[in-house]
Amino acid sequence: MHTPFLDTKIPEGPLEKKWSNYKKHAKLVNPNNRKKLEIIVVGTGLSGASAAASLAEMGYQVKSFCFQDTPRRAHSVAAQGGVNAAKNYKNDGDSVYRMFYDTLKGGDFRSREANTYRLAECSASLIDQAIAQGVPFAREYGGYLRNRSFGGVQVSRTFYARGQTGQQLLLGAYQGLMRQVKAEKVKLYARHEMLDLVLIDNKAKGIIARNLDTGEIERHGAHAVVLATGGFGKIYYLSTLAMGCNASAIWRAHKKGAFMANPSWTQIHPTSLPQSGPYQSKLTLMSESLRNDGRIWVPKDQNEKRKPNDIPEEDRDYYLERKYPSFGNLAPRDIASRAAKEQIDAGKGVGALKNAVYLDFSRALKEYGKNIIKERYGNLFDMYRKITGINAYDEPMKISPAAHFSMGGLWVDYELMTSINGLFAIGEANFSDHGANRLGANSLLQACVDGYFILPYTLSNYLATEIKVQKTDIQHKEFDIAEANCRKQLEGFLTTKGSKTAEEFHKELGRELYDKCGLSRSKKGLEKAIENIQKLRKEFKSNLIVPGDAAEVNSELEKAGRVADYLEVAELMCIDALQRDESCGAHFRQEYQTEDGEAKRDDENFSYSAAWEWTTNPSKPNLNKEPLIFEFVKPTVRSYK
Ligand SMILES: Cc1cc2nc3c(=O)[nH]c(=O)nc-3n(C[C@H](O)[C@H](O)[C@H](O)COP(=O)(O)OP(=O)(O)OC[C@H]3O[C@@H](n4cnc5c(N)ncnc54)[C@H](O)[C@@H]3O)c2cc1C
Repeated sequence: MHTPFLDTKIPEGPLEKKWSNYKKHAKLVNPNNRKKLEIIVVGTGLSGASAAASLAEMGYQVKSFCFQDTPRRAHSVAAQGGVNAAKNYKNDGDSVYRMFYDTLKGGDFRSREANTYRLAECSASLIDQAIAQGVPFAREYGGYLRNRSFGGVQVSRTFYARGQTGQQLLLGAYQGLMRQVKAEKVKLYARHEMLDLVLIDNKAKGIIARNLDTGEIERHGAHAVVLATGGFGKIYYLSTLAMGCNASAIWRAHKKGAFMANPSWTQIHPTSLPQSGPYQSKLTLMSESLRNDGRIWVPKDQNEKRKPNDIPEEDRDYYLERKYPSFGNLAPRDIASRAAKEQIDAGKGVGALKNAVYLDFSRALKEYGKNIIKERYGNLFDMYRKITGINAYDEPMKISPAAHFSMGGLWVDYELMTSINGLFAIGEANFSDHGANRLGANSLLQACVDGYFILPYTLSNYLATEIKVQKTDIQHKEFDIAEANCRKQLEGFLTTKGSKTAEEFHKELGRELYDKCGLSRSKKGLEKAIENIQKLRKEFKSNLIVPGDAAEVNSELEKAGRVADYLEVAELMCIDALQRDESCGAHFRQEYQTEDGEAKRDDENFSYSAAWEWTTNPSKPNLNKEPLIFEFVKPTVRSYK
């Protein structure tokens, strides 16, 4: 194991001055020079669209890629509940510092102070930006923007547009992007999948992409590359993410030298709809906002046969309210999910598969009336009814934990640059702000802040030294090598001619991860998972079947590439989880818990971000450690009791 120096580039000075100091001293690129500089942005979700629009608005030439048929279908569109900002509109004691502290504590003191503070600092401007774009946030009668609460906080700082906040924010970013497409500052490549990153002289200089409609392999060069490719929670197969979400772009960058940080830290969301059968490929999220008014409970008796409405109060266990009286139903996600699992494992789960808990609105309906509840969550109740056939105004919803968000991702410094020069990672694709557990409604914020506010400064600071560099030559031999490797891999998938589909491999992998690297992990389980994943990967090489060919629309071929990467990422996740002999946030190691079953951190030995380095052998990555230095906050035992 070796530990090279990971330069975080955290600016000097007091916490609240770091970002303004950085901006004061960041290098600028002359407006006349910007048009000569090309930037590739892979991803058109909130992070990618906001970055591409902002950079093009500044005058850079941007190429924007996504695998969907339109940028508007990036997975940010699925976000429901809201976006946080420390505006203190409710006058309930909020401040930038409190938001920073909540986020740091929510992440179990496993994130960088400076990045987390900047997130909170920029939050208020994001709301102003979105309002200027016409995002229809919910408002009070008098016109003020309305707020609600999300888990892990005691103030109301979540701005929302019914249950469609992601979609509405994305429409705002998309307008900005399309304005630049029209102005010919952004060239859009929808239905294109990045297959590889190209480095020239150790700098990111382009990508290899596949046109998913024609199968054509293309070369694209630039002065810098930005990955805004979202999270990889879909590795668990059943998750709240869409089928197409993947780890491929960041994983292939990892194999070119970008470190992967804390890959095992996955958020398992407590309020998804439970799995209802073996043929399901996706789980639907019910927004966390529902926990503002919904009360979570299970029957006290594991043999309870009565319908939920017939179970009297004394026979119900409102376990979150009982165990965490200060935060109750708004305990953070990792804690709420683990508590649900505890009840389900104890046989108290409800529903046909006994894999769910109740989320009950009867008290709120009595207190506020149906109209108010409808106004707050109408579309979520409609969605629930469409999927389950149950009217949640009349009986409790059934919810269950599901894989949701990747706190891990590409390691980035304060400038959001990876360990490869000229390669930046933003939004969920990086690891930066959420530590070992993300607080609800902080992710839309991070994606937007990275793209609108941070990258325009930090990328310019990098590009200022690249002005004299010529346009990237896509005939360079590094492009030849990368393209040949991509073609070889695709050909390999098509010629294996085995009997198992990529989907089947994915399903098996997902089950393995849920079981051994999910809500709760153990040394023994993780060692077994590593062994099983290695076997599965071996089988994938000899027994995969991909019909059709490469020169056409071939979704099976796309899937094969993504699953091939997942089979390597999964092993790294288990290795990462295994080396961390502590429990923190979403990473709960059975061996490390307090007497009352809470996560037990080990600050003395594990107060670091694990930045893994590719070595060509997926089973033998190098571990580099970025020590987490707490200059301004003293990490405490994280309690929500
Ligand atoms: C159901 C659901 C609800 C959520 N609700 C909330 C919420 O209420 N509040 C909150 O803060 N967060 C929420 N989140 C999390 C939040 O939505 C995401 O973290 C955030 O939107 C991610 O944005 P992004 O820009 O990083 O990635 P995405 O929006 O996922 O975009 C990824 C982009 O990368 C592209 N891409 C990926 N791989 C490739 C490739 N190889 N080649 C080319 N293009 C590629 C895709 O086409 C896409 O354009 C929710 C998440 C889910 C799944």
